[in-house]
Amino acid sequence: MKTPKIVILGAGYGGLITSRQLEKSLSDGEAEVTLINKHDYHYISTQLHKTGAGTASDDKIALHIPNLLKTNKIHFKKGTVQNVDFGKKKVYLDSGDKIEYDYLLISLGFDVATFDIPGVEENAFKIKSFQSTKAIYNHILRQFSAYKIDADPSRLTFAVAGAGFTGIEMVGELLEALPNLCRAYDIPFSKTRIITIEACPTVLPGFDQEAIDFTTTYLKKNNVELMTSTKIRKCSPTSIDLDNGEVLPSKTLIWAAGVRGNFLLEKLNLPISRGRIPVDEFLRVKGVENVFCIGDAALCMKDEKNALPPTAQVALQQAVLCGPNMIASLRGEPLKPFMYHHKGTVASIGNKVAVGKVFGLKISGSFAALMKQVIEARYLLMLGGPSLIIKQLLKIKKPYT
Ligand code: FAD
Repeated sequence: MKTPKIVILGAGYGGLITSRQLEKSLSDGEAEVTLINKHDYHYISTQLHKTGAGTASDDKIALHIPNLLKTNKIHFKKGTVQNVDFGKKKVYLDSGDKIEYDYLLISLGFDVATFDIPGVEENAFKIKSFQSTKAIYNHILRQFSAYKIDADPSRLTFAVAGAGFTGIEMVGELLEALPNLCRAYDIPFSKTRIITIEACPTVLPGFDQEAIDFTTTYLKKNNVELMTSTKIRKCSPTSIDLDNGEVLPSKTLIWAAGVRGNFLLEKLNLPISRGRIPVDEFLRVKGVENVFCIGDAALCMKDEKNALPPTAQVALQQAVLCGPNMIASLRGEPLKPFMYHHKGTVASIGNKVAVGKVFGLKISGSFAALMKQVIEARYLLMLGGPSLIIKQLLKIKKPYT
């Protein structure tokens, strides 16, 4: 009998942890597994704001995928997925390669939602991938260099759109990074501005009032300008137009105001809802045989009305079930339904402070920052065991690289 082929699209949180499940549970020779990803590195999406601000070394955020695979049960292929023919069961890559599958997992992650606001797509910096956030950091360095020549204050005005989870983490990281850059370029810190622009009346909409109050006080104390109840109307390379009529001269707008499923999903000829692929309780794409979808690409309902949010926590829990469900499918065994258990949410505000709720307990300050590190370490443990945690801890950021 032909060995069944399992193909995983995307080596992010969902794809990699599913690969680990398959490595653990497939018998030798039971299936041929191919993991396909755009790059040969896995970037830790939950820490991309650190790459954007230059506060973590590149090798702490981007990990070489072949090094993360423990056995030869998984074959890694670097390639960009262009399309899938679900009738012929083939994945098409931009290289022209066609990869056949019997069982497919779509875990292609997110794209940035810019809501067609004029100028945002072309001019705002996106927190989307390792490369896009590296571009933010390089741009910030260029602004510091150029300021030494022209003293244009708009170069040191750093605006972040969206004061939700990602936006606040980005602002926190800028607060960490800018004083060091000012010292390196011999520019007074008082010349810099960090501005957060948020359409809702408060920062961290949806968080508990205590978390909102803590974050508001902390940011104000650190001279972050909070423009809440404010919408961005348009932006250009040099300015941001707000709905209150103000035009903010700034050469840096970092967009953290929304995500959606990967744009590629819309090309796949599958049902799409809210930019994501609806899945059943077993994480299978509805109406397509042997195709699974997890993570930010999947629209997985929490109840009749509400979908689960696009978070790493959801992607990881789905991956832990998706691997065994794919194996159960190929063995002809019953599949298990997905049950999400929310453990909490912790948003960092730089390295030393965080805010959130873990197992129902409201936390803030340095204890919350410690919890955030524990959450990050737990992911590394799932990915590569204790040795990966130690290896990552030893990686130190060299200044201004
Ligand atoms: P991803 O991890 O994004 O992986 C998708 C993979 O697919 C990537 O490797 C990508 O390169 C690859 N890919 C994309 N297109 C193609 C293609 N065409 N061909 C081949 N490969 C492709 N969530 C939390 O739970 N807690 C947090 O604290 C948290 N913090 C966050 C902070 C930031 C700054 C951001 C941006 C997100 C944060 N999130 C957090 C959300 C979390 O990162 C995502 O929900 C999670 O990464 C989703 O996992 P995924 O596997 O679906 O996608």
